[in-house]
Formats: sequence, C-alpha cells, structure tokens
Amino acid sequence: MDCLFCKIIEGTIPSSKVYEDGMMLAFKDINPQAPVHVLLIPKKHIASADAVDAENVEYVSHIFLKIPEIAKSLGLSGGYRIISNCGEDGCQSVKHLHFHILGGKRLSEGMA
Ligand code: 5GP
Ligand code: ZN
Repeated sequence: MDCLFCKIIEGTIPSSKVYEDGMMLAFKDINPQAPVHVLLIPKKHIASADAVDAENVEYVSHIFLKIPEIAKSLGLSGGYRIISNCGEDGCQSVKHLHFHILGGKRLSEGMA
C-alpha cells in the first residue's frame, strides 16, 4: 500500500520517534506548527477518523490511553491541543489516521 505513514511505521521512511509500542507510533511532525508538534498514529492502516469502527477502535483508545504519558514526556505541563483532520473539508493530507499534538506555547483560540 502506498501510504506514507505505513512506510514510517515500517521504517522505510525515517522519522524522529518520541514513543513507540506494539500498537502505535509517535513522531515529530516534519513541518511543526508549534514548538512541540508530534503525530500519533496507529500501527494499523486506518484511513481517517471516519473509518474507525468496532474492530479497529482499540487502536484509537490505546492512543488516547497513552496521550497523558507522551504529553508528560514532551514537557507539556501547561496543556496541549489534539487535532485530527478528516477528509477533504478537514484538509487531511495523509490518508492514515493521525492525531496531532500541539503545544509548548499558548495556542491560538481559533480552530477553524
Ligand atoms: P494532515 O494535514 O493530514 O492532518 O497532517 C499531515 C501531517 O504530516 C502534516 O502536519 C505534515 O507536516 C506531516 N508530514 C507529512 N509528511 C511527513 C513526513 O515525511 N514526515 C513527518 N515526520 N511528517 C510528515
Ligand atoms: Zn497507512
């Protein structure tokens, strides 16, 4: 499958990893939008939030279970923002489910 994030999981495309286990990978975004900008991805190809179902939701719940630990390791004691762009109107550019974690500064109030 021609998926950038599957290739990052396989290791054929390098990434700056910040956390990894059997179900997920966290790595630094190549074009950071904040002092801390990390992407959290499931180690299963799920196209977007719109493709989450009863069979694959365990990957999503696992990511959220790990977010507090990862945020702490990134020094995000003041808080952070979690974003998942979905589909054309959501401006999703990589069609493998991912959650952006943004922080390290006071973020803007607007989201849309
Ligand atoms: P989206 O726009 O789909 O929500 O987010 C995709 C994110 O992937 C973007 O923030 C973009 O900077 C990041 N990205 C795209 N290609 C690469 C890459 O090869 N390596 C890393 N680390 N991030 C990437
Ligand atoms: Zn993929």
